[in-house]
Amino acid sequence: MPQTRRSLPRRHFLAVGATALLGLGASAAAPAAARARLVPTPETEVNAGSMVMALTFDDGPSPQYTPQVLDVLRAHSVHATFFVCGDNVGLYPDVVRRIAAEGHTVGNHTWSHPHLSDLSAADVRDQMQRTQDAVTKTGVHAPVLFRAPYGDFAAASLTVCADLGLRPISWSVDPTDWANPGSGTIADRVLAGAATGAIVLNHDGTEGGDSDPAPGSGGDRSQTVAALKSYLPALIEAGYTFTTPDAHPPGRSGVPPQAPAGR
Ligand SMILES: [Zn+2]
Repeated sequence: MPQTRRSLPRRHFLAVGATALLGLGASAAAPAAARARLVPTPETEVNAGSMVMALTFDDGPSPQYTPQVLDVLRAHSVHATFFVCGDNVGLYPDVVRRIAAEGHTVGNHTWSHPHLSDLSAADVRDQMQRTQDAVTKTGVHAPVLFRAPYGDFAAASLTVCADLGLRPISWSVDPTDWANPGSGTIADRVLAGAATGAIVLNHDGTEGGDSDPAPGSGGDRSQTVAALKSYLPALIEAGYTFTTPDAHPPGRSGVPPQAPAGR
């Protein structure tokens, strides 16, 4: 794990432009006119001090698995971030309300989980704005965190993040739980990636309202729940505590090591 995570305020923002996503140094070559507006870059670590990590759960809410995840988190007094899809929010608003009521953070994961690079800028904005609206309609305050499906943070989504006051959040640990490799494997991968500032990618739901399960998974997230029951007490025993990115200044940004494997 890099040791230069303290603060990277200058590198956390990039100029809007065609080269904005090509690398941290690209903005220097961008035309002055294109640098007039600043957009955030995806954060891969949480900036919360020594031995603090962040757990994240994507593609929900699920009426079956999200409550199980919440039960485990509550048993250990741990807060996490749930990046929800708008279509699922509309189907299961009570689950969203429970997430928020128990002190967790609700983040935006688009409406229907598309590859944002395939969409027009207008459609990207629609995917994100509709999800903001769906969450607020449940009575939960508007998300301030955003994660692009598959880690595909198209330039358009970062512009919308700037407009809507959203921080793009990536990850640093991807156990590929959605592929159901076995709960032991998921837990081992999370434990292997544990470090100060780590952001762990998990999945408590299935995009598309459970009608479009991940290939080969059938939308079954029982392994994710079982793995959580295993690795969470182990991490606590090792001295880790947990937080949500919105409670802290922006953390280190960059490209996650296993992108674009995540969903
Ligand atoms: Zn996803």
